[in-house]
Amino acid sequence: MTAIDALLAEGPTFSIEAFPPKTERGRANLRAALDRLQRLDLSFVSVTYGAGGSTRERTGEGVEEISARGLTVMPHLTCIGHRREELVALLERYRDAGQRNVLALHGDPPRDDPDLPPGDLRRAIELVHLAREVGDFSVGVAAHPEGHPKAPDRASDRRHQAEKLRVADFGVTQFFFRLEDYLRLRDDLAALGVDTPIIPGIIPVTDHRQTARFAELSGASVPPELMERFDAAADAEEVKRIGVDVAVDLGQRLLEAGAPGLHVYALNRAEATEQVRAALPLDRRVG
Ligand SMILES: Cc1cc2nc3c(=O)[nH]c(=O)nc-3n(C[C@H](O)[C@H](O)[C@H](O)COP(=O)(O)OP(=O)(O)OC[C@H]3O[C@@H](n4cnc5c(N)ncnc54)[C@H](O)[C@@H]3O)c2cc1C
Repeated sequence: MTAIDALLAEGPTFSIEAFPPKTERGRANLRAALDRLQRLDLSFVSVTYGAGGSTRERTGEGVEEISARGLTVMPHLTCIGHRREELVALLERYRDAGQRNVLALHGDPPRDDPDLPPGDLRRAIELVHLAREVGDFSVGVAAHPEGHPKAPDRASDRRHQAEKLRVADFGVTQFFFRLEDYLRLRDDLAALGVDTPIIPGIIPVTDHRQTARFAELSGASVPPELMERFDAAADAEEVKRIGVDVAVDLGQRLLEAGAPGLHVYALNRAEATEQVRAALPLDRRVG
C-alpha cells in the first residue's frame, strides 16, 4: 500500500472515488466497474463513508476488497456523530490492516437522520491530528473551490481551509466545472502561505439533473451555460458525450495549469471514466 503523498511527489496521479453499495447487485456492479477501471493504472481509489457510521461496515469491507485487488485505497472518515474512541478504533483497524491513507472529513448529517449528534470532534482538522496520533497515515482533507455552503463568508472560509490544509498532506476538491474556481482557491491559499497539493475532483456528468442536485447540496454549481448545453441534448447518450467532453477539457486545462493529479467522481461506473482517461495526457502513476 503506497502513501498518497509519495505518489504525488512522483508526478500527476489519476484516481477515482467509489461508494460502498447497499445491495448485492450494487456490489456486483462495482466489482464489474473496478475490473475495467483497474486496467487504467489507477493511482488510488477513495471509498466514501456515511456520516455517523451508516456505512461503517460497508466502507470497511469495500476498503478491504479493493485493497485485495492490489490497489492503493483511501478510506474516507467523518467526525460527525462519532465518539473519539470510535474514530480511534476505525483508524486502528485501517492501520493494522496496512492502510497508509485516510481522508479526514467533518461529514454532513444524512437526510434521513438530520438530528445526528455532532460528535466529539467538531472539525475535520481535529481528525487530521487524531489520524496522525494513531498511525503513520498520509492524510488528505476536503477542499471546496467554490466555498463551503455553511461558511459565513469567502474570506473566513479560505482561512479555515488554509488552516486545515497546512496540517494535511494533500487536499481533494469537491467537483467543479470552472478552471478559474480551482486557480482562485490555489492562489488564495498560496497568499495565506499554504502550498499543500490539492487534487481537483472532476465529474464526467452522465445525468445533469442529478449532478445539479449533488452540486447544490455541497456548495458547488453547474454553470447555467453548461446546464443549457445538457438540456439541449437530443438524448441521454448525447448528455454522456457532453459530460465526457467537458471533463476531458477541464482535466487537460487543470494538468496544464500544474494540478498534482485528477480525482474522478466515477459513481461506481466505468465507461465515462475510461473515456476521460483515454483522452488525457497522463503518464502512468500506479499506487
Ligand atoms: C473530496 C470530498 C469527499 C467527501 N467525502 C465525504 C464522505 O465520504 N462522507 C461524508 O459524509 N461527506 C463527505 N464529503 C462532504 C463533507 O463532509 C462536507 O462538505 C462537510 O460539510 C464539510 O466537511 P469538511 O471536512 O470540509 O469540514 P471542515 O473542514 O470541518 O469544515 C467545513 C466548512 O465549515 C466552515 N468552517 C468550519 N469551521 C470554520 C471556522 N472556524 N471559520 C470559518 N469557517 C469554518 C468552512 O467553510 C469549512 O470549509 C466530502 C467532501 C469532499 C470535498
